[in-house]
Amino acid sequence: MDALAHDPMERVATPKDNGMARAQLDLELRNIRKRFGDFTAVDGVSLKVSKGQFVCLLGPSGCGKTTTLRCIAGLEDPDGGDILIGGKEATKDPPWQRDIAMMFQDFALFPHMTVAKQVGFGLEMLKKPKAEIARRVREVLTSFEIASLAERKPNSLSGGQRQRVALARAMITEPRILLLDEPIGALDYSLRETVMLELKLLQQRTGISFVWVTHDQNEAFSLGDLVVVMNHARIEQQGPPEEILQRPATAFVASFVQGNNLFRGHVKEVLAGSLGIETAVGAFVVSRPLSGAGPMLGMPVSFSVRAELITDALTDRHVNRLSAVCTAVEYFGSVRRHVFERSDGEILKVDQFGAQAARIAPGQHVVLGWTAEAAVLHGKVGGEAGR
Ligand code: ATP
Repeated sequence: MDALAHDPMERVATPKDNGMARAQLDLELRNIRKRFGDFTAVDGVSLKVSKGQFVCLLGPSGCGKTTTLRCIAGLEDPDGGDILIGGKEATKDPPWQRDIAMMFQDFALFPHMTVAKQVGFGLEMLKKPKAEIARRVREVLTSFEIASLAERKPNSLSGGQRQRVALARAMITEPRILLLDEPIGALDYSLRETVMLELKLLQQRTGISFVWVTHDQNEAFSLGDLVVVMNHARIEQQGPPEEILQRPATAFVASFVQGNNLFRGHVKEVLAGSLGIETAVGAFVVSRPLSGAGPMLGMPVSFSVRAELITDALTDRHVNRLSAVCTAVEYFGSVRRHVFERSDGEILKVDQFGAQAARIAPGQHVVLGWTAEAAVLHGKVGGEAGR
C-alpha cells in the first residue's frame, strides 16, 4: 500500500496559515451541537485531532457517534459550533471540499460499477486526467491486493473483498482525514483481527488521520491513539487508551469499560491523601489527588477498582476488604475471571492470570482486598451502566 504514502511535510502549513499550532491539527471540533426536532443528538462536542492521529469514537448505541462523524463529513449541518480541517474553517463547506473521505459500515459500493470504476470514482469527481486516473487506479488496486478483481462488480465479491474495495475507493484521493463508521462491523469475526491490524499499519504508513466510530471497546483500545467515550450526545472522557482504562473519569466510563467494579457512596472522612467512603457494602479508603478541592464531607461520590487489582492474597497494603461468595469462574483468553455477588446485589469481578494456579472455586466464600491507590475516584457522579 506504499502507493498511498505521501510526504508528511506536504500538508504542513506556513505561519501565514493562521498559526503553526492550529495547522498541526488535522481536525478541530469546537462545541458542535446537532438537534433532530426536539432531540439533541450531539451536545457541545469539542475535539482536537493531531496530524496522523488514530481517533476512536466509542460509546453505546444512539450516543451520537455517527451524527458527530456525519457533521465532520458535511453530511449533516450542525446547529452550532465550528469545524476546522487542517486549521481552516470548514463548517459550511460541502463534503467534496473538505479533504476528507468516508467509509461506511455497509461499504456503500455502487452496485453497477466495476471495482476499477468505483475505485477511480473520487478522482473522476475531481476531474483528473483520464491517464492519471488509470495509473492511480492500477497502483491502488495493486497496493490493496485487489488487482485481479478490477472488472468484477460488488455482488460477486466476498465481504472482505468489498471492504478492501471501499477502502481503496476512500483512500485514492489521499484525504487528510478518513472517517470510518463501524468499518469492520459487517465482517466475519475471524477476519476482524487481521483487518484491524492491516488498517492500523495502513494508517501509520500513510499518515492520514483516522476517525473511527465503534461501539466495540476492543477495537477502540487496540487501534486508537486517542479514545473518545461518548454518552447521551456528550463526550464523557477522551484520552489515550491506557488512561481511559486505568483512570475512568466518570461512573459511566467505569461501568462501560470492561473489567471495572463500580462503587457509589458518600464521603465519610477526608484525610490528607485519601477519602473514607461509605457505600452499601462497607466503608473503603480511596486515594485522592493532593491538588484541587476534591469532594467534601457528606458529598455523593463514586469510584472504581479494576478486576485485576482485587486479590485474595491479602497483605497490610490491602486496606480495603470485602467478603463475598464466588458464583462463577469464566475464562477470557489468558485471564480467569471470578464473579462474586456483593451484598447489595451487584456483581464484583476479580481477574487472575490463567497461568496462575486456580485458587477460588464457585461456591467459595472469600475475603478480597485492594489498596487505596487501586481505587479511582471519579470526577463526576451519575451515568448508568452501559453494558
Ligand atoms: P449506533 O452505534 O447505534 O450507530 P450512534 O452513537 O452512532 O449509534 P447516532 O446515529 O449518531 O448514534 O444517533 C444519535 C441519536 O440521534 C439516536 O437517538 C438517533 O435515533 C438520532 N438520529 C440520528 N439521525 C437522525 C435523524 N436523521 N432524524 C432523527 N433522529 C436521528
